[in-house]
Amino acid sequence: MEERIAPPPDEASVPDTPPATAAAAQSQGGGSPPAGDPQPDAASGAEAAPSIHFRLGDRLRWAAQTPRYERKSGDPVYRPLQIYTIDPSRRRREGQMAEINVPFERLRKGPNGSRFRVIKSETSPLGPYDDVDLNETRLLITNGRQPAPTDPVFHHQMVYAVAMTTYAIFRSALGREVSWGFPAPKLNLVPHAFQVANAQYVRDRESLEFGWYRVEASNQVDMPGGAYIFSCLSHDVIAHELTHALLDGLRVRFDRASNPDVGAFHEGFADLVALLQRFSYRMVVRSIILNTQGDLTREGDWTQLVFEMAHGKGDKSLREIDLDGVHRYSATGEEHDRGTILVSAILDAFVTIYTHKAGPIIRLATGGRKQLDEGEAMSADLITQLTHIASRLSTHLLNMCIRAIDYCPPVDITLGEYLRALITADRDLVPDDQWSYREALIDAFRKRHIFPENVPALSEDALVWEPPDHPIVIPGLNFGDLRFSADPGCAADADEVLRQARLIGETVCLPDNLKIFGLADPKDPYFAPDKVEPPVIESVRSLRRVGPDGQLAFGLVVEVIQRRYVAGGGGYPSFRYRGGSTVIIGAQGEVRYVIAKYIKSETRLLKQREYVATVGADVFALQSCRHLKSNEPAAPPPAPRKAAAGKAAKKKARGKKPAAKKAG
Ligand SMILES: [Zn+2]
Repeated sequence: MEERIAPPPDEASVPDTPPATAAAAQSQGGGSPPAGDPQPDAASGAEAAPSIHFRLGDRLRWAAQTPRYERKSGDPVYRPLQIYTIDPSRRRREGQMAEINVPFERLRKGPNGSRFRVIKSETSPLGPYDDVDLNETRLLITNGRQPAPTDPVFHHQMVYAVAMTTYAIFRSALGREVSWGFPAPKLNLVPHAFQVANAQYVRDRESLEFGWYRVEASNQVDMPGGAYIFSCLSHDVIAHELTHALLDGLRVRFDRASNPDVGAFHEGFADLVALLQRFSYRMVVRSIILNTQGDLTREGDWTQLVFEMAHGKGDKSLREIDLDGVHRYSATGEEHDRGTILVSAILDAFVTIYTHKAGPIIRLATGGRKQLDEGEAMSADLITQLTHIASRLSTHLLNMCIRAIDYCPPVDITLGEYLRALITADRDLVPDDQWSYREALIDAFRKRHIFPENVPALSEDALVWEPPDHPIVIPGLNFGDLRFSADPGCAADADEVLRQARLIGETVCLPDNLKIFGLADPKDPYFAPDKVEPPVIESVRSLRRVGPDGQLAFGLVVEVIQRRYVAGGGGYPSFRYRGGSTVIIGAQGEVRYVIAKYIKSETRLLKQREYVATVGADVFALQSCRHLKSNEPAAPPPAPRKAAAGKAAKKKARGKKPAAKKAG
């Protein structure tokens, strides 16, 4: 459909500042803790029986050392930079390019900042070229390079700007810096890593690697044979890959496919962030509103992902969202396809809420009609209003989806559990759900048959995670006892995080508490012949949130994981099985929710055993991202692992580190 109204010039010329970027760039520190409920009685006190042994994980320290850029006096708030909002194949009137405000930080050549370093590749098809310096005066004056498909300097600028924006969204939603799934402070971004139509996150190399390919004349597409297609110019691909890296930092054990949903969740969540992030670019949203006449129940380009990369191979787009719920959840099938069912559910809820909010404005503008007639022109005011609604709503929903990660179990996630996490996290922050966000989400999951296990009804009350069956308060974790580094989103130092972790370990490992937290005594004869390790306190992070109406929430989120090496036999391989819990602790040190995966759960174990017997023990959830409809592998392929499942598990049981590598 043709665009009928050109954007007002003043609107088009102002750089976009996504709300998360504004929050990240302007944040001068946190809020105060909420006025909490009366403190419950301390129940599991220090007089209880001695606890079992536990360990403190390496990642506790990494999180405490996550760098934070401190603005210097005289620093600007933003660095405006130009990007492709989708990819080079979009038209200008669809908002192909935008100037966005990236949170300012002082940069070295690369660019090389506090969390990202963009690296040149010797094999770049556009090389050789000088080191990229975004501080060059002429680039500062022009707000960076003009988008151009074959300008390597722009490629560096594009991956840096999109990565910084995506990171700012996570930082704003979670209220803290996000540590990586590896100890180094920076993630490497390699725009021209290999000549394959794909991209990947590789934890071992601490990098996001973007591939490229050349169009083959025999593909019969409307592009010249030999034309270059770069995945680093696709906004969707950059946001998708970075989300894998951020999710890996938040839930490191989601890299193991212990059930078919784990990989689907990683892929679906990465697509979801990419899709909702587009809505932070005004001209893109404006174009969507125009093309759909403000009726987002109409599917179209806006419900598709990754265009140019797919075009060059003869496909229209890589993935397509199904708003009608035609495709239902099934535990079989390729992980990206199952992930798309998750994305479709959330986008369906987005459309429901948008329609609810936009309805009165459309009725006002049309003299009482529910929608515009086919081809009817929209007034500039109507477009602006609807653009504003869609944009704000997507930001809110994206924040909800990211915040829910803190409420996910530490291992073995299912899509149904993600719904429970979404509902609980949102209800914690926004008790009064006046626009029925949660109802819309529940309905969208129901429509696709994504049902959590062990929930009596798909109602909000039934879906919220439960508190422990008796009150538990952890002494020493009251907000007043915690030490911060200027901001309640940052613990003072590694010693403070280790202190908190020890206190948590001492509580969760009390014999009366073990089962509540999904744990068990490793020496329990029940486990023979399996071997069980002591529980590990993997992470302790602050949970600091500001809701849409200024509501504040503060607490801690903890991951406790225990490993069990399940012996093989009866035709089944040996494999690693994990239990434990995510624990949400309130501002008074009280345990508010325990999201447990019991290490003794035989039902879950038998399911996992069947699954690993089919796919292999200890399979990585993210063998490769699929940025093409064909089954081309990512390159370079994941390193070969010590093949035989039983052998691999045995090796690891002897204490050898697993190959911590992931392509995504
Ligand atoms: Zn992926």
